[in-house]
Amino acid sequence: MIYWYWLLGVSLLFVLLERLRPARRSQGTLRPQLVNDLFYLAFHGHWYALLTGAWTGAIALRTREALAPYLPFAESGAALGRLPWVAQFAVYLVVSDFLQWCVHNLLHRVPLLWQFHKLHHSVRRMDWAANFRFHWMEVVVYRSLLYLPLALLGGEGSALFAVAVFSTFWGHLNHANLDFGLGPVSYVLNGPRMHLWHHDASDEGGVAKNFGIVLSLWDWLFGTAYWPRDRAPARIGYPSDEEMPRDLPRQLLFPLTRVRGAASGSSGGSCRSYPRRR
Ligand SMILES: [Zn+2]
Ligand SMILES: [Zn+2]
Repeated sequence: MIYWYWLLGVSLLFVLLERLRPARRSQGTLRPQLVNDLFYLAFHGHWYALLTGAWTGAIALRTREALAPYLPFAESGAALGRLPWVAQFAVYLVVSDFLQWCVHNLLHRVPLLWQFHKLHHSVRRMDWAANFRFHWMEVVVYRSLLYLPLALLGGEGSALFAVAVFSTFWGHLNHANLDFGLGPVSYVLNGPRMHLWHHDASDEGGVAKNFGIVLSLWDWLFGTAYWPRDRAPARIGYPSDEEMPRDLPRQLLFPLTRVRGAASGSSGGSCRSYPRRR
């Protein structure tokens, strides 16, 4: 519940920043699909989080208890919990961000997962509200693959909660209609200019590019960074994004409700049909 208030606060901050210094002034505040994206914000940030968070967290903790006898730090208690809070925050941030980078790779590279991830990439005008525009199945995938490794670390819940709020702030920033550079720090931290290229509709540089959430470091390290710094992408979306229904109920049921005929002859069916950069 407390997360919900943080989410509202962070969101209002970006509403204000985008009003003051919009990067793309012609885009306007009331863009198409904004109502849907505000629903996703409330759904994923509150209702669905409450619905799924308790039992997925409980499963992770139960599994941790079952595995405890086999863990190297079982006798001395939680290894991470013995560190100062700031160190716990830093470890949780780096580990969870790397895991999310891995999962985001899977969402693009596994054809079935890409079908669900298409909803996030169907946004045509980027702003902070696009951060929570994602399919409910993504939550299942992320939680299934993230919660157990994070529970095994055994740090304080408050440090993990702070990482969740910080990641939300950075996710909003990545999608925000703001334009600023981070200089050499952009080799470590992600930002709106670099994430815009993740949403590039073309195959320039391949589509397997810029998967980072908070840290861009993983993309630079593992060769998935692509960022022409002199320009923005010509179009945001994916090649056959007209297949994505515009109304909420059918988006929730996608890909069963794909707009028929829209994807014919296109490469929208699978990420694997995209040309690779390397
Ligand atoms: Zn993506
Ligand atoms: Zn995005």
